[in-house]
Amino acid sequence: MWQTSWDEIPITNKLKSIKKKITKWYTQPNASRRSEIINTRTRIGHTNLTHIHIIKHEEQPLCSQCNEPLSIKHIVLDCPLYVNARNILNQPSTMEEALGEHNTHLIHTFFKSIGIDTKI
Ligand SMILES: [Zn+2]
Repeated sequence: MWQTSWDEIPITNKLKSIKKKITKWYTQPNASRRSEIINTRTRIGHTNLTHIHIIKHEEQPLCSQCNEPLSIKHIVLDCPLYVNARNILNQPSTMEEALGEHNTHLIHTFFKSIGIDTKI
């Protein structure tokens, strides 16, 4: 019943685009709380970097390179500023590839290499 309900949610949902089945997320047994925070926030697309403006009542931040609204998807898949850093992730073409449950080590390395791991 939960899967049927989840299936009815449009694929445009940020989390749905990463996780199509409602099975339990794989979590590394020794994962730190900070690591889990990064996983969760980036998967739902709501991070301090991209959404703190709502709490501060400021304008939505834009990418300094592209002038596009700053989003995790923009950073992970689209922004030309990070094209070389994306080699760490083997140039993913989908958010599911980049943020999937078996890719957490690489995505953390990617965020650290571009200097946003502490801003998530
Ligand atoms: Zn950009």
